[in-house]
Amino acid sequence: MSLISDTVDWILPHKCCICGDVADVTADDIPGYKQLYNLIYGSQPDLHMCTKCLSRLTPVEGNRGWSLCLSNPYDGDPHPELALFAPFPYDDICDTAIPRIKFGAQKELARLFGIILGRTVKENNIAADLVVPVPLSAERLEERGFNQAEEMALPVAFATGAPLRPDVLMRKVDTARQTELRDNEARAENVRGAFEVSPEWDVEGLSIIVADDVATTGATLHEAACALLDKGASKVLCIAFASNRTVKNTETV
Ligand SMILES: [Zn+2]
Repeated sequence: MSLISDTVDWILPHKCCICGDVADVTADDIPGYKQLYNLIYGSQPDLHMCTKCLSRLTPVEGNRGWSLCLSNPYDGDPHPELALFAPFPYDDICDTAIPRIKFGAQKELARLFGIILGRTVKENNIAADLVVPVPLSAERLEERGFNQAEEMALPVAFATGAPLRPDVLMRKVDTARQTELRDNEARAENVRGAFEVSPEWDVEGLSIIVADDVATTGATLHEAACALLDKGASKVLCIAFASNRTVKNTETV
């Protein structure tokens, strides 16, 4: 089996999971990655990417990763000061990579981003009682085979020492894809009231990290956080791998 796959690798070199060029980086080339991956996911990584893409994954400087979740809170927003931590800019590398995760089913790439995100969460001494990923609808989960938010939230949970609980939040309605809605107000309206806390859970008094892959308008994370706060969570911090947010959260920074 390994002889066959080794031969296929030799004939057809692996492609970079982001740009599709010939890959020259594997998990072996990133110090400590294999060990950490194995501890977090309980399996071996199958990462193939190029040096160019890896070198372009650069976090924003200093505390610029912190911002308001919604930079333009709507009238009557119950939580306009909700904080977002997103340590990477939503630049052209993310613009290529995130659709590869969502529509190219690149779970390994989601896990790479998750491990990088987890490291920055640890560096920022972020703590919580629970880590909750933004849930996908059953239909999307079926078509993709995994929830990228959950794959990225697991290393965040590992970094904080808090348990990952993917069953805390549920989607009440199957919303339209946010990426199909270009207008910010339409995106906010699309996810309004989309989430609820599972009746199995009591989140009263808990501090919770709610995690997603990216925050563009911030509307999805904001709604997920509102559902938790409405049920008595003492504090919610929204975390995403990347965002183009610039408006500061005065309470956090
Ligand atoms: Zn590449």
